[in-house]
Amino acid sequence: EAKRRGGSSWHWYSSNLDAGMQQQVELRTHLQEAIQKEQFELFYQPIVDSLGKPRAVEALVRWNHPDKGYIPPNDFIPLAEATGQIIAIADWVFERTCRDTKALVNAGLDSVSVNFSPLQFYRDDFIENVAATVRDYGIEPGQIVIEITENVFMRDSEHMINLLHQLRELGLRVAIDDFGTGFASLSYLNQLPVDGIKIDRTFISGIDNAGRNSAITRGVLMIAKELGVRTIAEGVETEGEREFVVTHGSDLMQGYLFCRPQPLETVLKWVAEQDKA
Ligand code: C2E
Ligand code: MG
Ligand code: MG
Ligand code: MG
Repeated sequence: EAKRRGGSSWHWYSSNLDAGMQQQVELRTHLQEAIQKEQFELFYQPIVDSLGKPRAVEALVRWNHPDKGYIPPNDFIPLAEATGQIIAIADWVFERTCRDTKALVNAGLDSVSVNFSPLQFYRDDFIENVAATVRDYGIEPGQIVIEITENVFMRDSEHMINLLHQLRELGLRVAIDDFGTGFASLSYLNQLPVDGIKIDRTFISGIDNAGRNSAITRGVLMIAKELGVRTIAEGVETEGEREFVVTHGSDLMQGYLFCRPQPLETVLKWVAEQDKA
């Protein structure tokens, strides 16, 4: 509002800020209701190997709002992380993931990935809670892959690395999500107790048309292979991108080119169809 300078501008900004805060307070209240009424759904997106065979899925939460329809996670997870509501949502997500894992594994998949927020790692009962849920649903711990972003290492990385070791001792697997966008660097890879990295979509997008991304991604793929860390290329949208990452040794791929995130039943059907093809 460049036009509105002078005496009234403070008030303008001030009331605008209030409106923003008002919205946040409202969203927080609605989110609390969503938690109580369990207005969440898990969608699953397939992860395929270099031959296009489905090998895994990633669980992605949606808020199915009674009036607004599906609200994507980026529109409510950040607030839930700020308010602590993420803990209740995460409990629901992990329970549902474990509950659905049996059907997904029976369909022929190796594992189910699930996103964890940094805050979850600061619960006193974090490891016990994860172990109990996996046990309750009678699944093999190795069928679950916990996805974390590099940012979890920003705060007390020693604590975090210790917990990752414990998760892996339980038999769960760990992958670094959005690799390349955050705090960790390639030089950390051999110090972190992780099984895989997911190369962020920003590095994959347009990768077949040369540019800097292709050099970075080739380097990451090479080093990860050398260190025995599994690689997943995220956000593969075109045949050119697919071909590039396969040629340069990406183990797995995920993206709209193969399949969008879908409800459980739809993904199970999709997996069955791929097997026939
Ligand atoms: P993410 O974990 O990196 O998940 C991948 C996101 O990329 C998903 O967005 C997916 O729909 C999208 N995607 C997949 N393939 C393509 C593609 O080819 N093109 C494009 N443009 N996008 C693609 P979504 O479902 O909106 O999730 C966004 C983020 O929200 C996730 O990023 C994750 O960080 C977070 N999130 C989702 N579910 C959960 C959850 O249960 N807990 C937590 N803590 N975070 C979650
Ligand atoms: Mg993820
Ligand atoms: Mg990601
Ligand atoms: Mg992401």
